[in-house]
Amino acid sequence: MHDWMLEECRASRRRMVDEQIRGRGIDDPRVLAAMEEVPRELFVPPEKRDAAFSDGALPLGCGQTISQPYVVAYMTACLEVQAHHRVLEVGTGSGYQTAVLARLAAEVYTIERVGALLSAARALLNSLGVGNVRSREGDGSLGWPEFAPFDRIMVTAAAPRVPESLVRQLGEGGRLVIPVGGVAQQTLTLIRLENGRVIETPRLPVRFVKLVGDQAWSADTNPTEEK
Ligand code: SAH
Repeated sequence: MHDWMLEECRASRRRMVDEQIRGRGIDDPRVLAAMEEVPRELFVPPEKRDAAFSDGALPLGCGQTISQPYVVAYMTACLEVQAHHRVLEVGTGSGYQTAVLARLAAEVYTIERVGALLSAARALLNSLGVGNVRSREGDGSLGWPEFAPFDRIMVTAAAPRVPESLVRQLGEGGRLVIPVGGVAQQTLTLIRLENGRVIETPRLPVRFVKLVGDQAWSADTNPTEEK
């Protein structure tokens, strides 16, 4: 990209953060800075680049979507990620949310079910010099036991209920955010582990693609409802 294009994208990201994120009440300065710095325009398919900063989700291919900027910021703010944290992300998709988390945490572990999406996300994150991410292809509803416990867990696909494996991989004081509910509509749910107690709080109505896996939906659930 030319310098003037880079400058234009930077200005668009600043506007996106001001209008869609800060303007709607998210004020965590680290989250706002990360959203301003990560080049969202590179994570959307090239033919969708004009819409990169629009106030909605965008198709990624393979039937998946990159979330609305506000939802990315909201979920990230919910987690209260600190610089020393180890974070597990389920549903790498484009790698955009991964890049945002990688700016805030010490290490990000991310799992994606669709190999083609994972390869593209890996290549892009590498080209941007994002070094603190470890990724693998697989079923993230089972977590990543070798690297547990995690300080924070973010699931960016919708589950019918909170996967027990993920709660078990949360460390004391940990936070997990996940959309829970039906195929068409879910509630973004925050789970905190405090003094060994699991505290669950509903936060925001959302609409995510399905988490498909052992502790989530099976691949062929309600195909007619997906449209
Ligand atoms: N956070 C992504 C958007 C994710 S869309 C971004 O910023 O672009 C949801 C993703 O979850 C899809 O890529 C989908 O393939 C993936 N997914 C669905 N079920 C999964 C599972 N069990 N394990 C890992 N990834 C899964």
